Amino acid sequence: MYSGYMNKVKQKYEFVGNNLGVDFINTEVNVKGELMDLLMSDSDVMEWLDQANIDADLGKGVELGKLLEFRKKARHILTRIIDNESLDDEAITSLNDDLKNYKTHYQLEMSSEGYQLNNPKTYSSTEELIGLFAFEVATLLASEQRMYLKRCLNPDCVLMFVDNSRSHKRRWCSMDTCGNRAKVSKHYRKVKS
Ligand SMILES: [Zn+2]
Repeated sequence: MYSGYMNKVKQKYEFVGNNLGVDFINTEVNVKGELMDLLMSDSDVMEWLDQANIDADLGKGVELGKLLEFRKKARHILTRIIDNESLDDEAITSLNDDLKNYKTHYQLEMSSEGYQLNNPKTYSSTEELIGLFAFEVATLLASEQRMYLKRCLNPDCVLMFVDNSRSHKRRWCSMDTCGNRAKVSKHYRKVKS
């Protein structure tokens, strides 16, 4: 009955991945057993970029097909890593092709608090964005963080994240959702028995 209101509420995307490439993959979520795509339109993509603090002014507009194709590939790659399987040459070659579109635009800036490395870049094409995501994914694979790439322990959840916690015991995409649900059902089972 509140659907009219709900439609107007700004879509909330999950940024639980600790890696931009992982966050991009997490734009597909599981809703009641079905994979649901949160990026259905150009405006969804622009909203996601905005929430990810990526400044984009895409001359040709969003090339949604290309972006989603990259996302599929990136999911395939990171799924294999999580499952401890090695990558096929095809996946590596394809990621390397995307990496060619990555250019660094970091600038060292000085402020009263010290030095900061900022990315003042306005991304102007879908290829550049894919290059950025590819770089994030490749950097993850080439670092020891690869060992802490995980899938949420909730079997109904498809979100991934890099477990940056000190103890590396993070199990859930988020304590507010999957973690809390697990806590509640554990409590329920206890009460029942
Ligand atoms: Zn989850």
